[in-house]
Amino acid sequence: MPRRNQKNRQKNRNRPKNRPTKCICPNCGYKEQHIQGKPCNEKRCPECQTNLKRKS
Ligand SMILES: [Zn+2]
Repeated sequence: MPRRNQKNRQKNRNRPKNRPTKCICPNCGYKEQHIQGKPCNEKRCPECQTNLKRKS
């Protein structure tokens, strides 16, 4: 049986934009707004210099 549903699924471009995403420090809990195009793990926590992680 052909898997038609997989062909019909939308491309990633169409996914909703209204998901608030934040970067969070796993060490101290510092949070900041995630900037699109700038991965959280390239940023550092100003408090403890730990690399941030993304959290939606
Ligand atoms: Zn921190």
